[in-house]
Amino acid sequence: MDDMRRYVLDWYDANRRVLPWRAAAGARMDPYRVWLSEVMLQQTTVAAVIPYFLKFTEKWPDVNSLAAAPLDDVLREWAGLGYYARARNLHRCAQMVADLHNGIFPADKDTLQSLPGIGDYTAGAIAAIAFDRPAAAMDGNIERVLARVFNISEPLPGAKKPLRALAKTIFEGNSYRPGDFVQGLMDLGATVCTPRGPKCGLCPLAQGCEGRKSGAPESLPRRTPKAEKPSRYGHVYWITDGQGRVLIQKREDRGLLGGMMGLPTSEWKAEIPDHSAFGKENPLISEGKVLHTFTHFHLTLFGHRIDAVNTIIPMKGFSWVAEQDCAAAMPSVFRKAVRLFRAR
Ligand code: SF4
Repeated sequence: MDDMRRYVLDWYDANRRVLPWRAAAGARMDPYRVWLSEVMLQQTTVAAVIPYFLKFTEKWPDVNSLAAAPLDDVLREWAGLGYYARARNLHRCAQMVADLHNGIFPADKDTLQSLPGIGDYTAGAIAAIAFDRPAAAMDGNIERVLARVFNISEPLPGAKKPLRALAKTIFEGNSYRPGDFVQGLMDLGATVCTPRGPKCGLCPLAQGCEGRKSGAPESLPRRTPKAEKPSRYGHVYWITDGQGRVLIQKREDRGLLGGMMGLPTSEWKAEIPDHSAFGKENPLISEGKVLHTFTHFHLTLFGHRIDAVNTIIPMKGFSWVAEQDCAAAMPSVFRKAVRLFRAR
């Protein structure tokens, strides 16, 4: 273990990635930036996160300013990053840190984990990276490196248990630069021990890596094949008022895409919903379909246009906006729908 830490830290000192949430080598990390980046990086790539991180930190440079922002503003800036419950939890967490902890993030993993949107991994990452505490943190990159170095052949998700036990031993038993060690393993997984084509010739852990010795490190970690995702269907409407404006809807606060702006839709069901009553007064013009995949299901939305509707008075949650601005605050599925309608 000591050799492993030394090799990783030496490699990290020479090869660390420059990322906007990282302080310069040897400088103290800002817990707010570490927390924000870790929440954004949940299920999302570094490349996708960087522009959002820059936008958020420019607008809200510290946790108190984020806590004071209206939730709708936070959701609007988050639009397009996906997994929208994260944005709501982010805002609630900022408010709790501001109100209960005087705007100072707690350093202790258990206290961090009691905050909204901070699970075991994120708490460990913040404790280690922001506060240099010996806390276990295992993201997908670290999981892959450990599965290969220790040749864990049991498929995921079953392999999570031995991997977590390994991470606990490796991270919690280490008080020498624990934050850099975590980040070193993350960077190693992201740039050298990559999912396809690991560059073992460049790896500081090559000599002791059991996965490399097995001859097939790329096959690790193994995964149990996932069950087929179910499909759902619905209708999405492009309703214009004849004056260059389109009708948009703020979705209910709860559930998928809760609180986000979108185009009006029917329910999303396992069968195509009947919406014949909807087009009685104003003829619907079919405009093709939008395909989108969420974590748990595939969605097909059938697009319908209703032009020059003057009879519709927006109800609560609905509003008219200029066509060219309507997609700005919408999640990806609705941005796709807007592109479909505007391309016609
Ligand atoms: S030797 Fe190869 S498989 Fe093993 S940790 Fe390094 S890059 Fe990954």
